[in-house]
Amino acid sequence: MDTGFFVTWLRDAATRIRLQRDRLTELDAAIGDADHGANLDRGFTEVCKALEDWPPTAPAQALLTAGTTLIRRVGGASGPLYGSAFRAMGKALQDPVTLPGFAAAFEAGVVAVERLGKAAPGDKTMIDALAPASRALTAAVEKGLTPYEAFHRAAVAAEEGSRATIPMRARKGRASYLGERSVGHEDPGAASSALILGALAGVAVKE
Ligand code: ADP
Ligand code: MG
Ligand code: MG
Repeated sequence: MDTGFFVTWLRDAATRIRLQRDRLTELDAAIGDADHGANLDRGFTEVCKALEDWPPTAPAQALLTAGTTLIRRVGGASGPLYGSAFRAMGKALQDPVTLPGFAAAFEAGVVAVERLGKAAPGDKTMIDALAPASRALTAAVEKGLTPYEAFHRAAVAAEEGSRATIPMRARKGRASYLGERSVGHEDPGAASSALILGALAGVAVKE
């Protein structure tokens, strides 16, 4: 996993978010303010530009650039949360990147989201996709799986985690204002987290 791997991950995440922009917006229209697709599309488009303007020379640098850009360019709650996640992951990442190192850095990113947003699993947020993905990565490390297998398992865990937010009642963010009426809808931030993990699996090469 070199710098190019991380740049491709971020660019592919941007593409998936662009393609799913309307779906993310529809999810946010149901339980929020209908801007999640636009927020993330704008943010990740800016991330792609920043990666071109300041080509990173190390994996951690790619993540730090992405994180800083998201914090600066996304107005909604998701910008600072994703931005902090990428920045924390960048700060924790050791070069050369191994799967155990990646898993530890990813967990640092999840912890950063939990600290900033004060959401716990079950609160119907992006944490409900990110935390299971992190657990899947750690489990894959313990089993000695390849990065390809590990990233695919993490992507599936994030997908399942996102779908599992449908019956939850939101306790954090805008959706929490709806109380019981937030039940029955997938959380937009959990859905975008699943897209970002899907991009990670897509970039991994089979050995
Ligand atoms: P906003 O709610 O400000 O319009 P977005 O629509 O871009 O921002 O992002 C909403 C998503 O952010 C939610 O679906 C949820 O996943 C996530 N989110 C909101 N508040 C929190 C929080 N305190 N902790 C974790 N995630 C949160
Ligand atoms: Mg919103
Ligand atoms: Mg908003």
